[in-house]
Amino acid sequence: MLAWAAAHADELAAPGLSPRPQRRVAVLSCMDTRIDLFPMLGLKRGDAHIIRNAGGLATDDAIRSLSISQRLLGTEEIVVVMHEGCGLHGASEDEFTQALAADGVMPSWRLGAFDDVEATLCNTLSRLRSILELPARDFIRGFIFDPETGALREVDPDVNP
Ligand SMILES: [Zn+2]
Repeated sequence: MLAWAAAHADELAAPGLSPRPQRRVAVLSCMDTRIDLFPMLGLKRGDAHIIRNAGGLATDDAIRSLSISQRLLGTEEIVVVMHEGCGLHGASEDEFTQALAADGVMPSWRLGAFDDVEATLCNTLSRLRSILELPARDFIRGFIFDPETGALREVDPDVNP
C-alpha cells in the first residue's frame, strides 16, 4: 500500500481543495467492503464527509463527527447508508460481550447487533433528527444498499412507520 501511495502521489495531491465539503453533505455508512460510496452517490473528492463504522450506526463517535461536520465545516445534510447482509444483522450481543469478558475486557461500547435493518435505520434517522448536537436536521435521509443487485432504496420513519 505504501508503494502504491508513493507511486500515485500526483493523483492523491489536492492542492487548494477546501476541506469544507462542497456539496455540504455528510454520509454515515457501514464499513462493509462492498459499499463504494463515491460511485454509489456520484460523489467526488472534496464533496462530502464520509463517516463509517460497523453498521452505519449513530454511535456517540459518529455523532461527534457529524456535529463537527455541521458546526465547524458547514455541512447541512446527512445521508445514512445501511445494507442487506450486514455482519451485525442477527449477531449476538451476549455472545460478543461474553467473548470480550473472556479476554478480560468490558468496554463501554456495545456491538450494535440488530434483527431488522429497516427498523434500525428508522431509529437512527429518528435519533439524528432529534439531537441538538446537530444544528441542521431538516435533510437527513436513509438508504439500504443491496450488494447483490446494486439497488439503493430509501427508508423513512415518517413514510414507512
Ligand atoms: Zn454492514
